[in-house]
Order: sequence, then structure tokens, then C-alpha cells
Amino acid sequence: MLFLVNRVAEAVAEKYPDKAVETLAYQWTRKPPKTMRPRPNVIIRLCSIECCFAHPLAECDQEANRRFVEDLRGWARICDRLWVWNYVTDFRHYLLPFPNLRVRNDNIRLFAENHVRGVFEQDTYNTPSSELAALNGYITAKFLWNPDYDEDTAINEFLEGYYGKAAPFIRRYIDAIHDRVAEENIHMTIWVPPTHPHLTDELLVEADALWQHAEDAVRDDAVLLRRVRIGRISVDYAILERARVAPAAEPLASLARKRFEPFFAALKISGLTRIREWNELNVDEYRSGLARALKLDE
Ligand SMILES: [Zn+2]
Repeated sequence: MLFLVNRVAEAVAEKYPDKAVETLAYQWTRKPPKTMRPRPNVIIRLCSIECCFAHPLAECDQEANRRFVEDLRGWARICDRLWVWNYVTDFRHYLLPFPNLRVRNDNIRLFAENHVRGVFEQDTYNTPSSELAALNGYITAKFLWNPDYDEDTAINEFLEGYYGKAAPFIRRYIDAIHDRVAEENIHMTIWVPPTHPHLTDELLVEADALWQHAEDAVRDDAVLLRRVRIGRISVDYAILERARVAPAAEPLASLARKRFEPFFAALKISGLTRIREWNELNVDEYRSGLARALKLDE
């Protein structure tokens, strides 16, 4: 692969000396070569798609992460124009709680320490209103600008500015989902399903109560209430999808029946058009399928 890219880059350099040629170090091309070197006008974009994102790339004990960091260091030694394509959402379940906020600055710092010159944080890109989308966008921008910016300050200042009096409850929710993957050492790729152990029914019951407090706290402010309701669809989605798999399991079954209508009402105002990367969402079909699974009379 690199042999071909170098040949193309050589030809490009003759005619366009100020241009660069980019290639991916992705899956089967990810390992750096033993002896070959990228030409100076070649950009290598290293992709972290196989990794766990519940823990910092360099600290997680998963083989996938250990190998990625090895490849990162390998490319850093032989390439002056190393970029990274990194992943920051669940691509099969855009709405699912995805506790990766605490690793975001660690990972960007790791890239910077290894002389990475460009970082692409691939988030949900083809629909608005995925899991805590506004907060995620803020965190990405903040840490790309300054990877040493304090994580708690970044999260809190956004929550206070965007959710007002609901902020403390949403912060407690964020801590609850992040504490679980940290304390139980639960790993999480970018395709985890709602039944993955990073979530439990108990955790979702607690999360639901916190989001209810958040809603109650801003009930007299239409703008903030709308934002909180849209933020809450993430936990509602997890409740409904877990109940779909085990429709008789209490207390989640009752909670799912209670949250069904508020979820679809908030989904409507959210403007969400996809719940996974590859398919457009057909709300009517999704709603009737879920109603059937939950045995709701419609
Ligand atoms: Zn991990």
C-alpha cells in the first residue's frame, strides 16, 4: 500500500510541490512498515476503529488498545505528517449512553505527545440530536484547542450554560455512567448494543430519576425544558431498547411503558433522522415495532 502511495506522491511532487497525498493506516494497513518510509509529502492517517473508548487508549488493558498505541508510536518514529482518525460515538446506536467524556482529553494528549499533527474526532455526522450532541461538540472543540483544559471545568461550564438549573442532575447522571465503566473495568467499542454491560437496569432507573429532576428544575423555562427533553431521549432509548429484549423484566418494563410517549414526543422535536449510522429513521415503523415488542395497545 505505502509503496503505491509513495509512487503517486512522487509524481504529484513534481507537478505540485506544495500539495500532500493522504492515505489511511486503517485495519489491514495499520501496522507501520519495517523498512519503507513515507515520502515527506505523504500524510498517514492512523485509525483507532478497533479500540475500547471507555478507558484512555494508553491505559486500557484490552489487546486492541495496546496494539493501537504500539502502531501510533511506530508511525510517530517514521512519519513527520501523522494524523489520527479517532471515533467518539456509538455508530450502531447514536442515542445510546456512551461514557467516553473522561477519555477525550487523555487521547488527544496521547496523540500530541506522539507528534500527531492533525486529529479528526468522528462523531455522529449525519443527524442532529444524537447522545448529548451539544455537549460532545463542545468537549471536542475545547480539547482539540487545548488538550490540557480541565475536564470537569469543561463539562460543568457547558452544562451550566446550556441546561441552567438542570445542570447538577445531568452532571450526576454523567458521573454515574462514567463511574460504572471505570469501577467495573467495562470495555466499550464504537458498536456496543443497549444490552452491553456498561448499562444495567438499575443504572437506567437511577438515570431516569435524575433526568426527571432535571426536567422539573427547568419546568418554567421553555427553552431549557426543550433542551433537557431532547437530552433525555438518550436514556429513554436505552430503557426502551433494553425492555424490547426483555419485555417482562421489572422494573424496566413498567418504566419503558411510562417513557414510551415522552420519548416519541421528544424525538419529534429533536430533529433526529437516524438512530444508527447507515439507515434513515422511519419513526412510524420504529414506533409500531417497539409498541409491538413492549405489548402496548395502540
Ligand atoms: Zn477499555
